[in-house]
Amino acid sequence: MAEITLKSLAHTYLSDPRSPEDYAIREMDHVWHQGGAYALLGPSGCGKSTLLNIISGLLEPSSGEVLFDGEVVNALPPEARNIAQVFQFPVIYDTMTVYDNLAFPLRNVKTPEARVHERVMEVAEVLELTAQLKRKAKNLTADEKQKVSMGRGLVREDVSAILFDEPLTVIDPQLKWKLRRKLKEIHQRFEITMVYVTHDQLEASTFADKIAVMYEGQVVQFGTPRELFERPNHTFVGYFIGSPGMNFLEVVTQDGRVMAGDTELAVGQGVHDAVAQARSTNVKLGIRPEFIEVHAEAVEDGMQAHVDHAQDLGTYSIVYLTLGGIPLKARIEEDQPTPTGKAWLRFPDERIGLYIDEFRVEIDHE
Ligand code: ADP
Ligand code: MG
Repeated sequence: MAEITLKSLAHTYLSDPRSPEDYAIREMDHVWHQGGAYALLGPSGCGKSTLLNIISGLLEPSSGEVLFDGEVVNALPPEARNIAQVFQFPVIYDTMTVYDNLAFPLRNVKTPEARVHERVMEVAEVLELTAQLKRKAKNLTADEKQKVSMGRGLVREDVSAILFDEPLTVIDPQLKWKLRRKLKEIHQRFEITMVYVTHDQLEASTFADKIAVMYEGQVVQFGTPRELFERPNHTFVGYFIGSPGMNFLEVVTQDGRVMAGDTELAVGQGVHDAVAQARSTNVKLGIRPEFIEVHAEAVEDGMQAHVDHAQDLGTYSIVYLTLGGIPLKARIEEDQPTPTGKAWLRFPDERIGLYIDEFRVEIDHE
């Protein structure tokens, strides 16, 4: 088991990279602590698989170092890194039985056969494969094959880490949910460092204690699901996490007032000062749909908005609004009246995030 450190790591697939866009991994530093349950979350193409393959040694980074427990492992081939990796599609030996497939990684490192048997039975039970142990892998369903593939990743207890690259893509939704819970259980039981790659925020937050959100080849935030929700430190995180994502309004100061489009925003002095002091022209105010106060009647300091429509989702509704010509979404609970035509909005000061050049800046709320 190991702590995995990435130091000034960068990777490009091009022989002659010219700009940051040419890098699948833009220079970054990151630490996965020993024993953590982590998710690596981001949209397709942001570099997740590239990063995992660099950690496991399938891919040599263009620059930077990978360290396990402080030792540089760049020169070590995958076998010597002692990492288990589970891929999106099953990697199994079709002609072997399920039992032999699961036993393979253990026999490979000369584990005594009695111990092999114990572990195979244990993992088969967790993954509900016991009844299939004697079957040839080629006769299994797609779901079962992927479970065997996962079992091969989980069977060794002495690995430095287990890396999962979107392992549940081919699994049906019902079983997916169950397997995710199992993985979590296995993690709690064995305390092996696990990194779970996904593009699904729900999957990430049910599995991981801490999530690394990746965007354009960089980890833009590493935090608990709650931190990502409450204090996204990049507009991408605000937009990607949450359902719907965070609202962003481009703002400027004009004659001492904070304006979004043609509307003055009612914000506290702290937000006002931060907007006024911004050196960039790219200044955005972010507020989550959950935190916008929506009133059906005029209220003090309420900003008048137009209600486009509301979507009833059972215990809550999403109200689609425009404020100063800017579209916004707000979430209201079922016991609250749904406004029609006009609404008056308030943004609680402590719920406002300010983003300059897409990164969050501190606001002094006094
Ligand atoms: P993810 O797993 O997040 O979907 P990848 O790591 O697969 O992202 O890809 C990151 C970027 O690198 C993408 O732009 C992709 O097109 C590019 N890429 C991935 N693999 C290769 C490769 N073997 N050769 C060239 N470009 C690649
Ligand atoms: Mg991938």
